[in-house]
Amino acid sequence: MRHSFQAESRFAEGAQYIAGDLRPGTSGRRHAVVDPATGHSVYAYELAGTADVDAAVEAAARAFPAWAGATPGERSDLMHRFAAVLAEQSEEFADAESLQCGKPVKLSTEFDVPGTVDNAAFFAGAARHLEGMSAGEYSGDHTSYIRREPIGVVGSIAPWNYPLQMAAWKVLPAIAAGNTIVLKPAELTPLTSLMFARAATEAGIPDGVVNIVSGAGRDAGEHLAGHPDVAMASFTGSTPVGKRVAEIATSTVKRLHLELGGKAPFVVFDDADLEAAVHGAVAGALINTGQDCTAATRAYVQRPLYAAFVAGVADLMATVRLGDPFDPATDLGPLISYRQRDRVAGFVERARSYATVVTGGRAPRGELATGAYYLPTLVTGAAQDSEIVQSEIFGPVLVVLPFDSDDEGLALANDTPYGLAASAWSRDVYRTGRATREIKAGCVWINDHIPILSEMPHGGYRASGFGKDMSAYSFEEYTQVKHVMFDNTAVARKDWHRTVFGDR
Ligand code: NAD
Repeated sequence: MRHSFQAESRFAEGAQYIAGDLRPGTSGRRHAVVDPATGHSVYAYELAGTADVDAAVEAAARAFPAWAGATPGERSDLMHRFAAVLAEQSEEFADAESLQCGKPVKLSTEFDVPGTVDNAAFFAGAARHLEGMSAGEYSGDHTSYIRREPIGVVGSIAPWNYPLQMAAWKVLPAIAAGNTIVLKPAELTPLTSLMFARAATEAGIPDGVVNIVSGAGRDAGEHLAGHPDVAMASFTGSTPVGKRVAEIATSTVKRLHLELGGKAPFVVFDDADLEAAVHGAVAGALINTGQDCTAATRAYVQRPLYAAFVAGVADLMATVRLGDPFDPATDLGPLISYRQRDRVAGFVERARSYATVVTGGRAPRGELATGAYYLPTLVTGAAQDSEIVQSEIFGPVLVVLPFDSDDEGLALANDTPYGLAASAWSRDVYRTGRATREIKAGCVWINDHIPILSEMPHGGYRASGFGKDMSAYSFEEYTQVKHVMFDNTAVARKDWHRTVFGDR
């Protein structure tokens, strides 16, 4: 037995979680969750239609007044219990995530699941610590203070690459701040979002606070983003779909939060620790089979280290073990789907006409050929303006380019439309300090690439979107600030009335 997770019996009632109950969708269209390591269907369900979105939004709107009115301490207590329930179910969450995504169980066990539990624990604490400006007599005659209030029903749309963590990043800050939420996971990967919502109920979080609609983007997603009773659209996914969601949300004047694509640069200066940079690049490029919005995708290496870096990366990539995601020794699982594998292969095939594929560049042969696997791939010799350097590939592909001066390396790092994450590698504090100032990205790592923290914000610059996930900064997204002003004079005719009444 590869795993014990039985999706069909677990979600026999359906894949819509509305007001604390599972139910089938009503779109009339079925969808299969497929294990990409084998191509086998593991769960078939009816997709959400617009009526299911309406029902979920209604449930969230009904739950809002009581949840928003709970004290921070009450919300915090329930969220601490939520973190504990998630921790108790860690093994099942890891199995389900590996099954629907093809993630090595090593990754889901050591990264996705503990990261989610830690996020829940963080937001349980943070719920009691919403901050604002201090109250004061700023005019002299009044006392002003700030109320930080929840926004209402949040409509959230998530991608398939880290389904559980994306559910956590969207749901936790929203509910910690007193909002209620309807989350639409990607149709390929609804399982752990459903488990997450059920765990919230098991922890005592009231029905309707967390709802899941498992539906397609074009109908359920667009309906949710434009729903008149949804006060905020919070989206994580690709930049083109994010633009569409923004159009819909803007036309209905909603708060908008966009976490979009990335094309992270990895800048290696000539005084860097070569071994550290090579290991960092391979790990940073291959994590989650490269389906990570912050993955290292473009390595710029200063000329003196370039040849050794390329050779080191090629050698290390050759040692990475592709295999069954449920084998604890597996380093690299399949891509999410055959379609995604073919998309990645398309980028690499087109690059052959203008660049060199040093290693990889094809699906593995033999036993793994039936899964959606693709070999770790290293490409060199591409021009900066070529497709493989500029476009988000979302697969196990690293492009390496040389540079000469520090100015050039930093300029190349900034030369894509994206700005989600980046890293710089050097032993010189002034060089790395300059990189942190000049690289346009929401996160810059120095001498590492990938680690994230519940306490620190994650979010993009430029075409990678705006708004922050995780950390106390996410409360800026999920709360609205109200200025309250009290007159302290008790004077009927205020001085400023002169501007309207003159001396009368
Ligand atoms: P995607 O944009 O194709 O889909 C994301 C979600 O949007 C899915 O739930 C999908 O069903 C939905 N959707 C699709 N069309 C829609 C529409 N017209 N209206 C409303 N919703 C619609 O992205 P994906 O392929 O699932 O995920 C990969 C992308 O996500 C990559 O670009 C990656 O960089 C990005 N991502 C970004 C972050 C971040 O934090 N910035 C994190 C993870 C993934």
